[in-house]
Amino acid sequence: SKGQKILKQLDKEIEKRNIKEKVKVFKTGCFGFCKLGPIIVIHPDRTFYCKVDVEDVDDIIDEHIGKGKIVEKLLYKGKDEGNNKRIDDLEFFNDQQRIALRNCGVINPEDIFEYIAINGYMSLSKILTEKKSPDDIINEISESGLRGRGGGGFPTGKKWQFAKSYENEDKFIICNADEGDPGAFMDRSILEGDPHSIIEAMIIAGYTIGAKQGYVYVRAEYPIAVERLEIAIDQAKKAGFLGKSILNSGVDFELGIRLGAGAFVCGEETALLQSVMGMRGEPRPRPPFPAEAGLWEKPTLNNNVETYANIPIILEKGSNWYNQIGSEDSKGTKVFALAGQIKNTGLIEVPMGTTLRTIIYDIGGGIHDQKEFKAVQTGGPSGGCIPASLIDTPIDFKSLSDIGSMMGSGGLIVMDETDCMVDISRFYLEFAQDESCGKCVPCRVGTKRLLEFLNKITEGKASEEDLKIMEELCYDIKDSSMCGLGQTAPNPILSTLKYFKEEYLSHINDKK
Ligand code: SF4
Repeated sequence: SKGQKILKQLDKEIEKRNIKEKVKVFKTGCFGFCKLGPIIVIHPDRTFYCKVDVEDVDDIIDEHIGKGKIVEKLLYKGKDEGNNKRIDDLEFFNDQQRIALRNCGVINPEDIFEYIAINGYMSLSKILTEKKSPDDIINEISESGLRGRGGGGFPTGKKWQFAKSYENEDKFIICNADEGDPGAFMDRSILEGDPHSIIEAMIIAGYTIGAKQGYVYVRAEYPIAVERLEIAIDQAKKAGFLGKSILNSGVDFELGIRLGAGAFVCGEETALLQSVMGMRGEPRPRPPFPAEAGLWEKPTLNNNVETYANIPIILEKGSNWYNQIGSEDSKGTKVFALAGQIKNTGLIEVPMGTTLRTIIYDIGGGIHDQKEFKAVQTGGPSGGCIPASLIDTPIDFKSLSDIGSMMGSGGLIVMDETDCMVDISRFYLEFAQDESCGKCVPCRVGTKRLLEFLNKITEGKASEEDLKIMEELCYDIKDSSMCGLGQTAPNPILSTLKYFKEEYLSHINDKK
């Protein structure tokens, strides 16, 4: 990549100028402002250089490092032109609060000592040395109000309590890093930028519920995340945070990685468990829930990457601190991958309850080419489209479900006036149909029929009666599919029918 070429060039030029003792170069994870990459931040003044090229390396070294002069051409020319010299000054971060992303772009993810230097592994060390009881940890997490960030929003403390309540010699901890929504890259960035926080959280979870083994289930398409996770696990073992009797506490915990092959359905927790056990990733009915009978029928706790990323800092700063952030219904922050027809694409983290308007216009910089904002899809193929008229909706679990969408894992795709909403729902439905595992009839056959209806509509061959039957079929599929994939697959159709029915009708009527 360009970033790696720049890194190589920096190393080469620093060596050539014989200033290795004075200047250190570190690679970090994602800063979030993807549109501006590759990015270089110079410390200690935190000067922010963007869209850097290999040819810019000489200027950075000779002008900035050598003479202390700012390289103006590499500064970000944002709305507040001239006030974007330091990373802390960028308006992109003004409305953000980075908790899960706190270390991404800040530390070198391949160096455990950088994580330790900013209080990493402190929560775990305190728990073990002060012999904090598992119930105290669960209470702290419950009182923080943290809810699962994988999509469902189930209270995390309650989930940990369930997993703890089932007695068994063998229990397991899972981290779901099988991020499959089109356009979503939140988990990938956290694993690439801050893998130790996930490891620390999983060890704490293991101690809390009495599990000695954990697995991170991560997509094979995320090679950098996998590589950094492997390095981090190795370093954590050598530092005594993983393995037998962690920090001489008598507590054991081992961690392994399992690679997923890119099946969207493996994000569903029972399918994920099958895949971890080496079987075909197909969901199974619940109950029993994984907390009671998960991996090899043993109690298993499963959270996603972003949920775990919140755990060490909640335990470090306390539930009261976390509880003050966010809305009445949803505490803390949420990470979103901002994509589509928006100026500032990237990874953002905002307090729950932030409005769509703030996300799209203040953080996202508005719509490309002065076009009009039309809708936003949250929750990927399981979510729904929110129209421009609801732009002041605060983003939290309840508000989104009240308007027919869902939080999902955090994909946020922005559409402008030129996007056809029937095409959008067709895109998501095609994805869901393709990813259906085929185990149950309503999803296997139903999504295929829905796609046929959508094709008929876009080809101008459908009638209003077809539209009615398609809507009924959506509800039938939702009610009778076995797992979340089928139960939510019709959501993009239902939400676009709710807010943009005239577009369906114009496809039908204009072509007659
Ligand atoms: Fe498989 Fe779809 Fe049934 Fe889920 S709903 S079990 S993905 S066929």
